[in-house]
Formats: sequence, structure tokens, C-alpha cells
Amino acid sequence: MAANASMNNHYDCLIIGGGPAGSSAAYTLAKAGQEVCLVDKSEFPRNKLCGGLLTLRSKKVFEQVFGASWEPSYEFDASSMKLLHKDKLLTVVDDYSRLYFCQRYHFDDYLLSLAQSAGASSKLGASVINIDLNRKVCRLRSGEEVSYDYLIGADGANSFVAKTLFTASFNKDTIGFALECELPREACKGDSDLKTPEVYFGLVKWGYGWVFPKKETLTVGLGGRHSINPDLQKQFRTFLKQRFGDVAVPKVKGHYIPCGDYRKQPGSENVLLIGDAAGLVEPITGEGIAFAMQSGYMAAQSIIENTGAEASTENLFAQYMLKYSDISTSLKYARALSYLIFPAIGQKLFVKALPKTRALPRMHMDLMADEIDYREYIRYLIVNMPKGILRQLVT
Ligand SMILES: Cc1cc2nc3c(=O)[nH]c(=O)nc-3n(C[C@H](O)[C@H](O)[C@H](O)COP(=O)(O)OP(=O)(O)OC[C@H]3O[C@@H](n4cnc5c(N)ncnc54)[C@H](O)[C@@H]3O)c2cc1C
Repeated sequence: MAANASMNNHYDCLIIGGGPAGSSAAYTLAKAGQEVCLVDKSEFPRNKLCGGLLTLRSKKVFEQVFGASWEPSYEFDASSMKLLHKDKLLTVVDDYSRLYFCQRYHFDDYLLSLAQSAGASSKLGASVINIDLNRKVCRLRSGEEVSYDYLIGADGANSFVAKTLFTASFNKDTIGFALECELPREACKGDSDLKTPEVYFGLVKWGYGWVFPKKETLTVGLGGRHSINPDLQKQFRTFLKQRFGDVAVPKVKGHYIPCGDYRKQPGSENVLLIGDAAGLVEPITGEGIAFAMQSGYMAAQSIIENTGAEASTENLFAQYMLKYSDISTSLKYARALSYLIFPAIGQKLFVKALPKTRALPRMHMDLMADEIDYREYIRYLIVNMPKGILRQLVT
């Protein structure tokens, strides 16, 4: 099947999207000897709006998928984090293992280069504008047609592949939206040497704000559920002014973020959705890079395993669903947890509790590092939250 595959523009697997999800799938498939082509509408390196926080979970998944050096992935790291409510410092989680910060311009290019070195073909600056699911053919804006046995949709929150399968890329009621800008360090008087990342609660509904240190910039952002934060632009300006005074604000950009709204059915038959295209973003932290890489690896493994006499689209999908449930179960618990954390009463309890406890924020960091699972964390909260409610009632 693989021989001559690319000569007539036919591939075992065609991947749409060259973010962390697409490159992880492309790398895994190419390494297993499959004829794989990755198509992206942008030339690389390209920018992708993102805080660029790489948790220990991201590092672990990266090492599992690529087995390559982690060092080129990031440009800044920290071992502490400040948690604030509006402008009030709640706590500093210090002496924590490590948090890494990347520029997606470089990170995504690094991952793509690993996939290319493993033998994946790529067509960059090539937008997919039509998918004929019956003929198994994608048409690019140039008019070129590419056929496939398997198609992977790794094309982000506005996924064209998901839209082709299900008529909409995402659910408008539950999707998140975030605004971000990159402040040059030298423009931030008093903060040009900032080393500790900051996370701000109480600025938006069902979301948070962040200041993430990079090598030459500070990435400042604010995001929350789109449908209940109609004034996000205004709230972002207020946040910038409150935190950085009269700093000249460079271009502010916005992007959807599918927090917690993962797809129960991530594809159909020989078409698999991964990463943001499947809605795999943690609903509390907005972390998506780890799940993008992990789901890319899972989709590729499902394709690799679905060969020989037993090969069928039913088997493929069943295999992918089985692996995918590892992520979707975590996200299901994370969503349950978001109902404890984000509503007003939950926020009030956290704001009161955080300055008084070392265990709570550290457990949350452990959760982000994949050192404990969501069930363990929820159990801890359920045991400890009633005490907090009682204390609120009597103080
Ligand atoms: C403001 C913001 C901050 C965030 N901060 C963090 C963070 O700090 N840490 C974290 O872990 N996650 C963060 N996330 C989430 C993270 O960015 C995503 O989960 C992650 O990028 C998903 O990777 P992906 O490969 O699925 O999709 P993407 O990275 O979005 O890649 C999709 C690719 O598909 C291409 N594409 C789209 N349509 C087509 C088409 N028709 N034809 C060809 N190519 C196409 C695009 O050009 C793009 O390169 C943030 C998200 C936002 C919006």
C-alpha cells in the first residue's frame, strides 16, 4: 500500500494541521514506515496564539511521543507561581519542580521538523478547502487533490474536518475565548526582570488572566467562556492597565479555546479528530498542548495497529475510542471540578482557603503535572470543602 504512495498524490494517512497534534501523529506514523503527508495552511515557522505554558505533563508526553531532547522546546522556565484574586496576592507556590514556557513559533516548528526528519511529507502554505469523504480526497486552495486511506483532523478549534463531519467545528454555548498580547520586557517598567508566572482569578466569568514570562516578552492574556463574557476586550484593557499601568499595548489578538467541550465521538470511520479539533482542552487551566500531542500519538497508534486481515474502519475507530477515553475521562472529571471552582460560591471558598493552605495549590500543580489524577483531587476537595463552608458560615 505504501509503495509509490506519494507519486500519485495518494497517502496512507493525510493529516490536516501542523500544530502539536498533527506533528505528533505525523512523527509516529512516519517512524512506523507509513506514507504520511501533513498539510498546513501556514508556512512554518508560524505564530499560534497561546500562553505557551508547558507543564510537566507536556514534557512527559513529548518525551513519550518523540523521545527527543526537551531543551529546544522552551525558552524560559520557573519553579514558582503566583496566584492572585483581582490585584490581591493569594499565595505563591514556590519550590515547585518546573514549569516551562515556549513561543509556539519555535515549539511547533521544532515538532514539525522532528516529524519531517522521521520521513513525513509536508505541504505548507496549503489550505484544505474541500473534503470528499466518499472519494477520500482533499482539495487544496491551489486546486491540487490529495487522496488518503486515513484522514486525521488536527486543524485546531475552527476545525474544517470537524465541520465537514458534524456541520459545526464547536458548540457556541460552551466554547471559550481568550485575548492575548506580547509585552516587550523593556517596556514593562519594574517588571522587565519578572521571573514568576502569575495567574489571576476574579477578572472574568469561568476563566482567568495570566502573565507568563518569556525570554524577551511577557505573554499577557485573559480568557473565559465566550457566551458569558461579552466585554472581554474591555476587561482585558482594564487588566492590562491595573497590572502594567500606562504601558504601550501592542496588537491584541483573540482565539477560540475549546475548554472542556471535548467530542464524545472524535471522528467517523476512517477520519479521526485530535487536539483542539476534538475539543481536548482542560476546562480549568486551558491546557491543550499535552492533550494535542497525546491524542495525535493515540490516533497514529490506532492506525498502525489496524493493519492486516483484521483491518476495518470499525476496528480503527474502536481502538482510537479506547485510547481516547484516557483523555476524555480526565477531562470529564476536570469539567466536574470546574463546577466546584468557577461558580461564585466556589471562588469565594478558594479565595479564602488559598492563603491558608499549602496543600491545595500544590495539589493543583501536581494535577497539572499529571502526578495525581482528577479523582484524587476531587476526593480531597469534597473532604475539605465542607470544612471551608462551615468556616465561612461562622466567620
Ligand atoms: C490564548 C490561548 C492561550 C493558550 N495557552 C495555553 C498554554 O499556555 N498551554 C497549553 O498547553 N495550551 C494553551 N492553549 C491551548 C493550545 O493552544 C491548544 O490546545 C493547542 O494549540 C492545540 O494544538 P492543535 O495541534 O490541536 O491545534 P493548533 O495548534 O491550533 O494547530 C492547528 C493547525 O491547523 C492548521 N489549519 C487550520 N485549518 C486548516 C486548513 N483548512 N487547512 C490546512 N491547515 C489548517 C493551522 O494553521 C494550525 O497550524 C491556549 C489557547 C489559547 C487560544
